[in-house]
Amino acid sequence: MLPASLQKLIDELAKLPGIGPKTAQRLAMYLLKSPHSRIRPLGEALLSLKEGLSFCENCWNITDGDICKICSDPARDETKICVVEEVLDVLAIEKTGKYKGRYHVLHGVLSPIDGISADQLKIHELFERVKNDPEIKELVVATNPSLEGDATALYISKYLNRDDVQITRIARGLPIGADLEYADAATLGKALLNRTGY
Ligand SMILES: [Zn+2]
Repeated sequence: MLPASLQKLIDELAKLPGIGPKTAQRLAMYLLKSPHSRIRPLGEALLSLKEGLSFCENCWNITDGDICKICSDPARDETKICVVEEVLDVLAIEKTGKYKGRYHVLHGVLSPIDGISADQLKIHELFERVKNDPEIKELVVATNPSLEGDATALYISKYLNRDDVQITRIARGLPIGADLEYADAATLGKALLNRTGY
């Protein structure tokens, strides 16, 4: 029915998370009606997305250099590391304005059902980092309040190789099963302030 180029765009858009076939069609039609000046920056942004971006060697946050902006900021509290599942969680916590420490992005959570073990996450990198940096005094584990998030937090508290590092967990105030990324800043900020020790 549709010209191949338009159908291809719809198919590609529909593969994105949260976009069903209907939304994909609507977006494609919107783009089709948009002037070149509007479409070109979008196309260029998509093409350049992968170029020059990598993960921070220290915390595995996304960066356009070797070390991310947060790790290279001397104003950040180097005694605290907030452990999160995904890069977007860093953004969510930054938005609360309640946290001034550094981060460590695990890139997932332990999930035996999905076959995700510690080796597939950046957990050993976290343990190495804590082992090699005596300045670190607290790990704020901010994995999602889900079964997997809790299991991951427990794993970290069990296998961390330093007794003098306090491990705290944020979860209070967040609904069970909630995604950090979608929590409102006030709720997340409160959960951070009310973190409890293991
Ligand atoms: Zn970093």
